[in-house]
Amino acid sequence: MNNTIQTTSSSAVNSVGRLFNELPLSPGLLATLQQLEYLTMTPIQAASLPITLAGHDLIAQAKTGSGKTAAYALSLLTRLNSRCFAVQAMVLCPTRELADQVTQELRRLARSVDNIKIITLCGGSTMRPQMASLEHGAHIVVGTPGRIMDHLARGSLDLTQLNTLVLDEADRMLDMGFYDDMAFVVKRCPPKRQTLLFSATYPAGIAGLARQFLRNPQEVKLLEQHEENKIRQRFYEVSHETRLQAVGQLLRHYRPASTLAFCNTRQQCRDLLEVLQAQSIHALTLNGDLEQRERDQVLIQFANRSCSVLVATDVAARGLDISRLEAVINVEVTPEPEIHIHRIGRTGRADENGWALSLCSPSEMPRVEVIARMMGFEPEWHDLATLPSDSTTPLASPMVTLQILGGRKEKIRPGDVLGALTGEAGFTCEQVGKITVTDQSTYVAVARNIAREAVRRLSAGKVKGKTVKVRAL
Ligand code: ADP
Ligand code: MG
Repeated sequence: MNNTIQTTSSSAVNSVGRLFNELPLSPGLLATLQQLEYLTMTPIQAASLPITLAGHDLIAQAKTGSGKTAAYALSLLTRLNSRCFAVQAMVLCPTRELADQVTQELRRLARSVDNIKIITLCGGSTMRPQMASLEHGAHIVVGTPGRIMDHLARGSLDLTQLNTLVLDEADRMLDMGFYDDMAFVVKRCPPKRQTLLFSATYPAGIAGLARQFLRNPQEVKLLEQHEENKIRQRFYEVSHETRLQAVGQLLRHYRPASTLAFCNTRQQCRDLLEVLQAQSIHALTLNGDLEQRERDQVLIQFANRSCSVLVATDVAARGLDISRLEAVINVEVTPEPEIHIHRIGRTGRADENGWALSLCSPSEMPRVEVIARMMGFEPEWHDLATLPSDSTTPLASPMVTLQILGGRKEKIRPGDVLGALTGEAGFTCEQVGKITVTDQSTYVAVARNIAREAVRRLSAGKVKGKTVKVRAL
């Protein structure tokens, strides 16, 4: 295709350090970027922003964590007129978590724009409050195709002023069977609009989607190229019977602070969780069987370092902005090399090294050969039998998450909780980790050795002048 720009996401591109102020962005946006310490553009931003700002349709492909949100957010914020109370931009996402992440990033980036209203429209929440928010007027909506469709059907969402439509994680929306819902929504958008399609992979369906919904799109593809010294790949041969036990062995040996263990099926996730729990390794899983609140709790615990192992399938893990993974374990080698490359790309981010450890049964050997050929390396085989492991020090995460019943609805803010812990309760700031406030609950990570005492003192004391219920997760 002649309008495709292909580039590689190696640090060579990064270190060239294209600055945001090369772009026609408002002084307010530039100041915000500086405050957020977004010093230079990521490669996908450098490649796509000139295209989106010029008003063209775009198909952009780059791996998770490459900064795709800002790549479209800066463009749609530039076009936005905050004095006009109408929906001017809409972002479709596959899941509520992703929609929440996008909304957060948009709000951060939109800080300098006065009175801007961004709302999230996803299933799992009741319609009525969403309809009320829409009535008050919103500039940007972020949501899942199903729920947006519901609003369109009820007439509570008016898209006549829409000028930018973003399909984020388009590949995953296709995977999840949202094609028809997307088509329904797109047909309700004004024909004269800019459409931006972002995707982590490029399966066949994407081209079809683009042909239908985009107009003369420019394409930007960042070919993945991990720096070898950053991601250290090792392969271990296992038998089918020893596979799950071997995961525990790797964890005890490498002792990574945070690991994402990929399974090929949900059943394998459940089995692995059981095996790890039997080995006293605290792991959590992310799968479609979980209720929304449980999923949120899993992600919160993983992000705040009170769970060091997350077990997931590719579908469950895709798109999540989980940074600083020290290791990725492939419980089974995936038959698709692209997926393997994508999985291991989650470790070794930024300036840190990461382990990519793969367990491989004899029948999966040909898969490793294909991957190695595609990535151009000689697989490094190691022997599990000779792996020394430190089995004396227990494998426990440094933090424990406490759940306080009461959240945004009770007007609790992170500062209230930090204040309660470091004031009356007498703990130090160092003993308190990340604090996450959701609608109904507040989650605070505390150092493992004070967890019990912290529950006691918080329950005995007050948060924001009120007695609260607290429990350790
Ligand atoms: P993607 O959608 O490609 O998976 P995200 O948009 O979620 O990636 O961005 C990943 C992370 O990188 C986010 O935490 C975001 O705040 C951060 N980020 C994005 N752009 C920049 C930048 N130019 N400089 C520094 N950090 C950035
Ligand atoms: Mg994204």
